[in-house]
Amino acid sequence: TTSIALFTQDLRLHDNPVLHAAATTADQVVPLFVLDPGIEAAGFAAPNRMAFLADCLADLDSSLRRTGSRLIVRHGATAEVVARVAAETGAGAVHLAAGVSAFAHRREARLRERFGDRLLVHDASLTVVPPGRVTPAGRNHYAVFTPYHRAWQQAPWRTVLGPPRTLRTPAGVGSENLVVGGPLSPALPPGGETAARARWRRWSVDPYEEVHDDLAADATSRFSPYLHFGCLSPTELATRARQREGAGAQAFVRQLAWRDFHHQVLAARPDAARHDYRAREDRWHQDEAEAEAWRQGRTGYPIVDAGMRQLAHEGWMHNRARLVTAGFLAKSLYLDWRIGAAHFLSLLVDGDLANNQLNWQWVAGTGTDTRPNRILNPLRQADRYDPDGAYVRRWVPELAHLPGPAVHRPWLLAPDYPAPILAPDELTARFRHGRALD
Ligand code: FAD
Repeated sequence: TTSIALFTQDLRLHDNPVLHAAATTADQVVPLFVLDPGIEAAGFAAPNRMAFLADCLADLDSSLRRTGSRLIVRHGATAEVVARVAAETGAGAVHLAAGVSAFAHRREARLRERFGDRLLVHDASLTVVPPGRVTPAGRNHYAVFTPYHRAWQQAPWRTVLGPPRTLRTPAGVGSENLVVGGPLSPALPPGGETAARARWRRWSVDPYEEVHDDLAADATSRFSPYLHFGCLSPTELATRARQREGAGAQAFVRQLAWRDFHHQVLAARPDAARHDYRAREDRWHQDEAEAEAWRQGRTGYPIVDAGMRQLAHEGWMHNRARLVTAGFLAKSLYLDWRIGAAHFLSLLVDGDLANNQLNWQWVAGTGTDTRPNRILNPLRQADRYDPDGAYVRRWVPELAHLPGPAVHRPWLLAPDYPAPILAPDELTARFRHGRALD
């Protein structure tokens, strides 16, 4: 018998329930990745992520070759391509990981129309706890993190699976190349499971609790692109971290629970990728010049500008900088969160519909935040999380001559730096207004 293992956001050999199920139930496996034009049509094929994806696929292919198999890559509408490959190889079953986006739901429905119960969907691949596995009474998902986290910790996690040692794949199945183009950020991380596991070996979770908010220390795992493309299994990471114990490991596992939380929200509410999870009353303000200054990292607030420039340069931004830059856009400038979310998605190598849109909504107060009127004051954030100014000096070289925390207030010492697009006293006034509402 022959089965297709359809790869999506699970581009790995370790702990891969889809590949494992296909390999243990059939004599031959066809490892298949389909580049669906629906991904491009949805504006989701940003050059940074496509370049990273190309690395992931090349790495997956070489790992599969070591087992005696290889990766088949095809372009086209997923259900049609899979049907064609099934006809070419005589495959009887198709294994697929459950996804959470509207696109993933549609893809699964189209495959179901063609394959019926020969389509086997595995729900414990993308997250540690599958969406919908834990729910509050009378609802299909949690809207608040704390009770979710409690239930999540008590839910059973599946056993971590080893990588397959040998795989047999029918000969003569054609594969196509992935062509990537477009402007890339100059300092992208390498994609693929091998690079991900090398990074995991080098990184220590132990100091995570103390250092994860320190912008200059840059000491978080940077696993996010690998988790987005599934080069690392969240279940394997969470299981290993839980075995380690200690405050660092605990805090890290909690972040993986945040990831699962946003995935279960999106799975239940795919519309939340575009629309307010909870309708906000005040209307957003429109100002393209302000939006553009924000995108370019020229707001006049160095802590905001540093984050935006890190994003452009690396296709990645530190979580604390994401909170500060997103909060500045949505809550200080009052610009629509979708403008900011779209810009992030155009560059982030970890750009993820669940994590990006729902974190944006959380920051904008339209989502699952229990304190929707909270405002992060960028100057206080700068003093707290970049107390010496080292993060700003790294990303805003024209201010590198300013010593210590003076770098956060260039209007006092660096007259050539762009003037704040929102005057500091107005910013503080908005901050007070926000607190008053809180
Ligand atoms: P670590 O601190 O090492 O955390 C480990 C893992 O936990 C991360 O890789 C990530 O998978 C998960 N995680 C951590 N924080 C969060 C969080 N707040 N929400 C969900 N999962 C989390 N993350 C993305 O993966 N893709 C995005 O598109 C994305 N967009 C964001 C947009 C905004 C406005 C904000 C505030 C946050 C966003 N995040 C996103 C969440 C978070 O900023 C990144 O996951 C994190 O910075 C990645 O760095 P790391 O891997 O070093 O994280």
